[in-house]
Amino acid sequence: MNLVDSIRTIPDYPKPGILFRDITTLLGAPRAFRRAVDELVQPWAGSKIDKVAGIEARGFIVGGAVAHQLSAGFVPIRKTGKLPHETISVTYALEYGTDAIEVHRDAIAPGEQVILVDDLVATGGTAAAAVELIRSLGGTVVAACFIIDLPDLGGADKLRALDVPVRTLVSFE
Ligand code: 5GP
Repeated sequence: MNLVDSIRTIPDYPKPGILFRDITTLLGAPRAFRRAVDELVQPWAGSKIDKVAGIEARGFIVGGAVAHQLSAGFVPIRKTGKLPHETISVTYALEYGTDAIEVHRDAIAPGEQVILVDDLVATGGTAAAAVELIRSLGGTVVAACFIIDLPDLGGADKLRALDVPVRTLVSFE
């Protein structure tokens, strides 16, 4: 099965008018899941990556597998109030209102090489906030990797404008 066909589209979820790209079908298909992880890490096979940072919640699933594949550590980036130790936080704009994400202050050491992972990039607001968190701790964002890009929403370009190389596998116009 190719990757595009392994992703299910749900109309009007979570709100009317939104086409939700559901990766649970990709995750549940053994060959598609392996292929997605293998293709995401391919440019960095054999490189020294210290940490993979995954964004809650689907970025944990993909990021954990990517970290294992690269023999890197895994760093969870979470919504406010979910991490038990001392955190730093960044607030970012949503279509309506704001949201915030956090990381443990000691999760990344200065100079560490970090790959950021999430399932999908849309406006890039969440990932740009994650880049800010990683850079505040002194980490270098080697790349941001996503299974799905929604190019019309401009997120990948927004990250490239922040000097972050972006890797995506499937685009939905
Ligand atoms: P952004 O901040 O780039 O606008 O939104 C990306 C975030 O929203 C990601 O964490 C992603 O998981 C989630 N997201 C937004 N739309 C979708 C979608 O259609 N499918 C999935 N799986 N996640 C989405």
